[in-house]
Amino acid sequence: MKDCALSVEELSKRYPRAGGFRRFPALSGVSFELDRGEILGFLGPNGAGKTTTIKCILGLLRPDSGVLAVFGSPPASPAVRARLGYVPENPDYDDSFTPLEYLSVFASMRGIRHSDEASRALLGRVGLSGWGGTRLRRLSKGMKQRLSLALALQSRPDLLVMDEPTGGLDPGARKEFRDIILEENGRGASIFLSSHILSEVETVCDRAVILSSGRVVASGSLDELLRSEDLWRIAYTRGGTAGSESVHRAGLQDRIDALRASGAEIEEVARHFRSLEDVFLTATEGAAR
Ligand code: ATP
Repeated sequence: MKDCALSVEELSKRYPRAGGFRRFPALSGVSFELDRGEILGFLGPNGAGKTTTIKCILGLLRPDSGVLAVFGSPPASPAVRARLGYVPENPDYDDSFTPLEYLSVFASMRGIRHSDEASRALLGRVGLSGWGGTRLRRLSKGMKQRLSLALALQSRPDLLVMDEPTGGLDPGARKEFRDIILEENGRGASIFLSSHILSEVETVCDRAVILSSGRVVASGSLDELLRSEDLWRIAYTRGGTAGSESVHRAGLQDRIDALRASGAEIEEVARHFRSLEDVFLTATEGAAR
């Protein structure tokens, strides 16, 4: 097996259906890898199986079949857990605690040396300066998400698993989260980012995996996914008016000649890139159950 942060091979999981005999296939033969030091985007429509995959990665759910390894070891092993940081989609906190108390409890559970000073610095890093002593019931949804990030970062994880980490955040806070993801990656952490925010994935991720109805329907580097196979864009001006058109590689030279012959001046010829939204919609179209 390759030495990667996360490797998932032929993962399958069926859930019992209410009142039914046949179980529901949430994951059917899902395979992908997250190389060390890489940021991987994990995309898919609602119900595609993203959270189910994440639960398997965290060792919270046992797959029916398939092999899953985190840094080469089974995900539920204590050694692996110590290297993992997890930012959940919907954190379920006890509202009577404060952020500082949460950080202290988590530090004890993880066997990490703890100080109020370090916790306050961490809270400052995620934008919660001055909120350490406030009961969680007085914190907004976005502030609780910031606390989730602080808890995940506390152990300086080698692998950060994030499930919709910026869902309820305003644009400024999203940018702060993105910056922290890049900083963590900069210090060597591998990042698994499940997100519906395609612009975010496009901005921070090296590669992406797109899941639909429990199957991988597209995967690759962002460059591979966004690059249209053989579509090129010609920009030109004719009679003082700007124009552009997209043509296939095979017809590119003929079209340039024809435009020139019609009096057009060619301004630019460049490969045509699709948006991630385009890629996502094309890949998931028709795969829905
Ligand atoms: P979303 O983007 O909406 O969070 P998701 O991609 O995370 O969706 P999952 O939560 O993994 O999707 O769910 C995959 C499928 O499995 C869904 O059809 C869901 O209804 C079903 N499912 C998830 N958990 C259970 C469960 N405990 N019992 C039965 N079915 C489940």
